[in-house]
Amino acid sequence: MYRILLSWRQEWRSFWRKILLGLLAGLVVGSLWNWDPFFTPLAGFAGAATPSLPYLRYWWQPAWAMALGVVLVSWMTGFHLMYVPLGAMCGAFLPYAEWWRVLRRFRVHTRNFEKRSRPLVVIRWPKELTNMVNVEELLQSSEAAITEFSQKFRFRLKRRVVVYVFARYADIQQVFGSPAGGFALTGGEAMVLAPDTVGTLEEVLRHELTHLFSRYWSQAQLPFNHEGLATCLMETVEGQPIDYHALLHILADSYFPMVMRVPSQFFGQARNSNFYIAAGSFTGFLIRTFGWEAYEKFFRRADENNYEKVFAKDFGMGILAAERRWRFQLLQGRKALEPELSQAVAEFRVETAYNCWQFYHCLDEVEQLARNGPLSAKCLWFAAAAHVILGHYADAVPLEKHLLEMNDPWVTKHRGRLWTGLGNLYDLLGHRADALDAYEKVLTEPDSWLPNEGSNHQLARGYMQQSYTEAHLLKRYKYWIR
Ligand SMILES: [Zn+2]
Repeated sequence: MYRILLSWRQEWRSFWRKILLGLLAGLVVGSLWNWDPFFTPLAGFAGAATPSLPYLRYWWQPAWAMALGVVLVSWMTGFHLMYVPLGAMCGAFLPYAEWWRVLRRFRVHTRNFEKRSRPLVVIRWPKELTNMVNVEELLQSSEAAITEFSQKFRFRLKRRVVVYVFARYADIQQVFGSPAGGFALTGGEAMVLAPDTVGTLEEVLRHELTHLFSRYWSQAQLPFNHEGLATCLMETVEGQPIDYHALLHILADSYFPMVMRVPSQFFGQARNSNFYIAAGSFTGFLIRTFGWEAYEKFFRRADENNYEKVFAKDFGMGILAAERRWRFQLLQGRKALEPELSQAVAEFRVETAYNCWQFYHCLDEVEQLARNGPLSAKCLWFAAAAHVILGHYADAVPLEKHLLEMNDPWVTKHRGRLWTGLGNLYDLLGHRADALDAYEKVLTEPDSWLPNEGSNHQLARGYMQQSYTEAHLLKRYKYWIR
């Protein structure tokens, strides 16, 4: 979600760095080679192109064709100093083919989108979503959020906010070439959302809207602050407060001290939502304790290098002390959330163990939970998935069947995928007739899309032709380590 916000600034800087490299190479080669009309502009191009060498297959054809033109003209008509920066420019432009492709894919994808406007917002969506998304409600909630944020931040955005609702998360990945639940196109005052990611459309809209506003406070590369504020202003995720999720993570997931989460490199690499949630909850604590104005002052001044110093100065306490107070407050609120919280923590441990590849631990946790009462749909799913990875296909079948019989919103949302999973298990066990029945059931459910695998209906049709084998599993494992 933060990527576009960062990439413009980063790219701009690296573009100029490449130009400088090109100029340097051109001047060095030129002065050593008596300003050779062939090698001097070529060195300008090569110097600027060197950093893009690993991305050779993405090189933009017009850029290197132009460079070739510059070198040929210089060679035939004689050297001029201008040919060095020209060559360098061509070299620096080489990696931007992918950017143009993204823009083109975006334009093609959104060309036939429907459109509804209000004074503060424009919503655009594909026809297939018309009956699935309540556009009127989204218009109202976005207008309310924009008004609320304008008052909070005490300024208005320069342009009307354009909200693109893509049909599915996989489309965002396909158009932008990287996975994200939503995108804020900062500076363009636009965002891209999808209904099938974590969080409701309204919640993710508040998250991305924060990015559009907070960019005017600070453009520092500090996802801890940007994502923290954006997650804090979402207020809820799937209807539960951010602090509830943060408490759950503290009790059941890995815990990194806040100061370790500040460097953008670490924040960017950690793929789990724990980082967003913890930063969001901590930001909420800072705003509650020290006030919005103090937080704004801090946000505007802080960057990765001065973070701790500015923190101590603006809030009058060190980050470690503040973090302890934040955690103390969260844990104090624990009693009010019992006994549901303990149950949620136990279930979350199942998920955490699974995500850490601790499959026997995961199955132990599920067994413990099963002694206290019926298992939730997600727990059953993790247990079944752990059995599949361990090769216990026969143990996974009853769990999958049990899941499919449940009347649960999570199951309803994923029923098609669950039928595919059951069919795969039957195939692995050699029960072809049962497998075919399961694949037939997939086609009676609405289709869904998975990144990397595509349409679930298409997958099921494929398995009806050719049964699912361990070769498919091998392919999936290999994909994970890529
Ligand atoms: Zn974000």
